[in-house]
Amino acid sequence: MNRICLVHYHEIGLKGKNRSFFEKKLESNIKKSLELNGFKDFSLRRISGRILIEHDGDSESILNLVKNIPGCARTSAGYKCDQTIDAMIEAGCEVMRNFSEGRLPESFKVSARRNHTNFEKDSMEINQLVGGSISDAFPEVKVQMKDPELDIRVEVIEGGAYVYGDSVVGVGGLPVGTGGKVVAMLSSGIDSPVSLWSMARRGAEVCAVHFSGAPIVTSESEYLVKEICDNFSKYGLVDKLYIVRIGKFQKQIAEECPERLRIILYRRFMYRLAQSIANAEEAKAIVTGESLGQVASQTIDNLSVTNAAVDMQVFRPLIGSDKQEITDRAIEIGTFDLSSQEAPDCCTLYMPKTPETHAKIKYVELAEKDLPINDWIDEAIKDSKVITYS
Ligand code: ATP
Ligand code: MG
Repeated sequence: MNRICLVHYHEIGLKGKNRSFFEKKLESNIKKSLELNGFKDFSLRRISGRILIEHDGDSESILNLVKNIPGCARTSAGYKCDQTIDAMIEAGCEVMRNFSEGRLPESFKVSARRNHTNFEKDSMEINQLVGGSISDAFPEVKVQMKDPELDIRVEVIEGGAYVYGDSVVGVGGLPVGTGGKVVAMLSSGIDSPVSLWSMARRGAEVCAVHFSGAPIVTSESEYLVKEICDNFSKYGLVDKLYIVRIGKFQKQIAEECPERLRIILYRRFMYRLAQSIANAEEAKAIVTGESLGQVASQTIDNLSVTNAAVDMQVFRPLIGSDKQEITDRAIEIGTFDLSSQEAPDCCTLYMPKTPETHAKIKYVELAEKDLPINDWIDEAIKDSKVITYS
């Protein structure tokens, strides 16, 4: 009896001719993630609309990993066994035992399906025989046809059978690498990890870029962002992380430009750096965690002026989200605790007393006219640190 994990992928099924491309991508992403996380003895195969992982590791850890990989709509754990009623009963009993740590379900049923008709018993008979024996082995668990707590699936296939429990909901979306490449601006705040995650879930390959205020402030934010990316990389959500130190240039902006425009100028500088990295990485868009009106730099006027610093398209997946929604998502994807740790943010370096909320492009361009911005970009990128995950 081998352990298995079955991965179901809703949305990919809708993609017509591209279907096989999406399936292959998901298959290779799952393989990469399993390897990256130290799983060794496993094999992967595409079977009728799903991906089958056969392994001899810990089913729960595999399930927890796989459900976070974009493209996985649902996943379930169980066994592949011989094509005999006895083997199906044994596997079904194991599924029952593994239902939940320290607890059996209150009720169950068996739902059999024959994908291969050579087996002499039909699905009704399998339900009765396997269900009956499991019920004898676990008399405390009620048999219930309608909405049982555990539905044990039995699928008869050529030369064997799959027996597995209820599926766990996955993150859904599309496999990373099917949606082009983006550069995501990643701070150690709450919003940008969520925006990066949203794009990766839609299939984008993500190169993260963090701007640090070091050496003017400490480099804590660099460690936090690295930890966020390390975690994301387990599920293939991030490919590379650039850490670019801009404190020195911010100091010059603060010294030479009107105080009210500082934040806008910092942000235009960040966008330009992101664009330059995107060009080098052959990425086609920049992603930010901006949300309309959340802070002074996120008014429509200021976003327009910031946007005008680059030609590339800028995606803002959170533009219409409330802070609470973003926070809930951050908790769900496991970034909230890291994002809540105090780290000096380069945006707050030399914070103006009254930041401009409705910047005009002509004053902003005038303010930065004499700054050697292109030289700064070259210097900052040359000195940047790059971590590669794949
Ligand atoms: P976040 O919670 O993502 O830090 P925020 O609410 O603090 O966002 P801002 O500081 O205005 O808002 O930043 C807006 C967006 O600009 C961020 O979501 C992120 O995409 C990008 N950004 C801000 N600071 C940095 C940084 N230090 N490095 C990289 N990107 C940044
Ligand atoms: Mg921030």
